[in-house]
Amino acid sequence: MIADLAARLGDVPAYVYDLAALDAHAARVRAATSGIELYYAVKANPDPAILRTLEPHVDGFEVSSGGEFDHVSALFPGKRLAFGGPGKTASDLTRRPYRFHVESPRELDLLESGDVLLRVNLRTETAGAALAMSGPFGMDPAMVAECRRRPAKARIRGIHAHLASGLDAAALTGLAKTIADHARPGEEVCVGGGMAVDYADPANLFDWAAYGEGLRGLGVQTLRIEPGRAMTAYCGWYLTKVLDVKRVHGELFAILTGGTHHLRTPVTKGHDQPFTVFGSGGPEEEVTLVGQLCTPKDVFARRVRAALNPGDVVAFAMAGAYAYNISHHDFLMHPKPEFHYVSGMP
Ligand SMILES: *Cc1c(COP(=O)(O)O)cnc(C)c1O
Repeated sequence: MIADLAARLGDVPAYVYDLAALDAHAARVRAATSGIELYYAVKANPDPAILRTLEPHVDGFEVSSGGEFDHVSALFPGKRLAFGGPGKTASDLTRRPYRFHVESPRELDLLESGDVLLRVNLRTETAGAALAMSGPFGMDPAMVAECRRRPAKARIRGIHAHLASGLDAAALTGLAKTIADHARPGEEVCVGGGMAVDYADPANLFDWAAYGEGLRGLGVQTLRIEPGRAMTAYCGWYLTKVLDVKRVHGELFAILTGGTHHLRTPVTKGHDQPFTVFGSGGPEEEVTLVGQLCTPKDVFARRVRAALNPGDVVAFAMAGAYAYNISHHDFLMHPKPEFHYVSGMP
């Protein structure tokens, strides 16, 4: 299937989403985390076809802006939404999600009604995390205590935290326990996302079974997770064609259609995006894969081994999360990629 699409690819790159694979993956995640509420963090990829595929498997969606709230509410009226994110505007606060994730005492004061979780920011050991969500997010324990003392029109239902990303099941379970210890008995606890995705080794999958078991072991009555990256990263591919191959000052470059204005992930993560080549073969050489943008930063993968010739198609894998939707598509006015939704990659 992907080979067919590769054979037909013109000069415009394409995103390909394997919805059958996503459906199967989401079903596995759902089964492994039974007893735990599962929300998908929409900011990882808000594509409507992706959201429709996930919807039957999730209890709700986590949205981080008024725009995401409106987008998801229009697609799934009545579906439970958790609305988080720092810096909510007055208009954001008039929306009515199932849960607001309150980020400051001021935000709690501004809410006229609703059910809220207090977002806690804990200084915990997040060694090994790809990204520690410290800084301005949420409230330190003293601010949380301040919220609990204030008279509020909204109802405090529990606590929320999203402390790090890129952690394995054991580390995330430990973090969940630390978070749950900050809740009062009977309160809801949402422990966020951050399940590790290994771009260097796509076969090294997050251990959902161990995580589900670990979370159930915490004995919290209503426990919620909100994965983003680890839900959708694997179902997306970015297909691009080799335009030119040349050696400049001794370094071999392959210039591909499109660029990191379509697939921003390797720039933001500072990694080599994994890929498969559909091409004419030949000996593998060390080559740097770049796009069409006039900046030396437009690099998909640096000094990796591959056999690339003009006309070959490169299919970048793991392009289903924080990929097109975090990219700056209009850089240099190149055409936008095409989108194809298929059921079943090889
Ligand atoms: C981004 C985010 C998530 C999802 O994180 P992933 O690393 O993509 O799993 C979950 N919760 C909150 C509050 C977030 O900001």
